[in-house]
Amino acid sequence: MKHFIPIVLLSLCTASCVNTATTEQKTLPKNIIMVIGDGMGPAYTTAYRYFIDNPNTGVVEETVFDRHLTGLSSTHPAADSGVVTDSAASATALASGIKTYNGAIGVNVDKNNVQSVLTWAKIQGKATGIVVTSQINHATPASYLTHNEHRRNYNAIADSYLDNGIKADLFFGGGKKYFIRKDRNLVKEFRQAGFHYIDTYQDLTSLPNNKPVLGLFADIGLPWALDDTNKYRLSTMTKSAVHQLMAYQKSKSKSNDGFFMLIEASQIDWAGHENDISAAMAEMDDLAKTLEYLEHFVEHYPNTLVIVTADHSTGGLTIGARGKYAWQPEKLRRMKHSPSYIAKTLVKNKINKSMASALFNFELANEDITLLINSKNSTKTNNSTQIYKLKNTTDVEFSMTLTVKKLIDKYSNTGWTSGGHTAIDVPVLAFGQQSERFQGHQDNTEIAKKIFLLLGRK
Ligand code: MG
Ligand code: ZN
Repeated sequence: MKHFIPIVLLSLCTASCVNTATTEQKTLPKNIIMVIGDGMGPAYTTAYRYFIDNPNTGVVEETVFDRHLTGLSSTHPAADSGVVTDSAASATALASGIKTYNGAIGVNVDKNNVQSVLTWAKIQGKATGIVVTSQINHATPASYLTHNEHRRNYNAIADSYLDNGIKADLFFGGGKKYFIRKDRNLVKEFRQAGFHYIDTYQDLTSLPNNKPVLGLFADIGLPWALDDTNKYRLSTMTKSAVHQLMAYQKSKSKSNDGFFMLIEASQIDWAGHENDISAAMAEMDDLAKTLEYLEHFVEHYPNTLVIVTADHSTGGLTIGARGKYAWQPEKLRRMKHSPSYIAKTLVKNKINKSMASALFNFELANEDITLLINSKNSTKTNNSTQIYKLKNTTDVEFSMTLTVKKLIDKYSNTGWTSGGHTAIDVPVLAFGQQSERFQGHQDNTEIAKKIFLLLGRK
């Protein structure tokens, strides 16, 4: 209840401010691109600045995140869920401008459907698309595309993408497992509905311009950026998606009403849950390349608005830990594999200093090798950890992954306070037409309200 009155007042203010300032239709952006870094609290954008810094210049270079920072956003869900949000409640806030309970996909606290900015944009004649690195029926994209009382109803959410009317002209991400099932083949049904289907990154270069597209590149989420054949898969998918949506829009209508797109760097959050700084920085790097591409796009198409934010922060990441005044990303920059890949390889092979150092791609100390060997020989499972254990991971692989991450945290002096989310405010970035609307502190619900107004919904 405490939060209710200020939010209502703020939203009234936002509505009247935007209404008086945008009297002319032509000032509304033609294209709107919403970018979510799932789990990307301010510690992630800061860590990335030091991670990517050129150590030879004597100054810390500005990043694409710094260049477009406009403010901060609060992320708390509806009062009954407390102040720490999950991705479903926060994505519903960002998509529809309402507070709801943790787990809710596009429904309010009474479980009634709420309209998303993507759905509204589609009704206005815009082309719509989503590009994510999770499965396309995961909480964040689902909150823009559908309604369900719980995020875990993955099959029902996938079914609804067709059954409730197809809301997007382009879907890129993972999730084959949910779309090609024993009981139903949604890919086949999408094809029957006129969609072109692809399942490799190579296929992105040869899309038919006059068709909507479904691209599913993995069974569930895409591989970690660190392990993927294309470490810049989000930026690659985004470039292709932007071109495709523009071409598709042109092919079907002469009026060319522009497009609305949701892009999500989904796995910053997964790296946070796993307390994995090396994976987090690689996911951030892919997102940074995506934003740098969008900067060029906005230069060429200035009637485009790009908004970037996070749904919450994850893991309680700290840049410096254990009382030591240091954070050293040098060794993180060298890493070429994820901790889980390194751990699986260590479990499969005889561990020695040269092979282990080659896997980390930096020189390990003798004591590190002892730690790794002990971890492999220890049969007791680690029940003390709060970190989520993946289903296809054995106990010894899981315990080895924890040891690998412990070494990475030691060398970088990275700290974590949680295996879950935290309630800290998140950065808001905006550039392009009407980007000044997103300055200062705002609640996540206000971001959706501003987008609705910029899409002409009063
Ligand atoms: Mg997400
Ligand atoms: Zn999460």
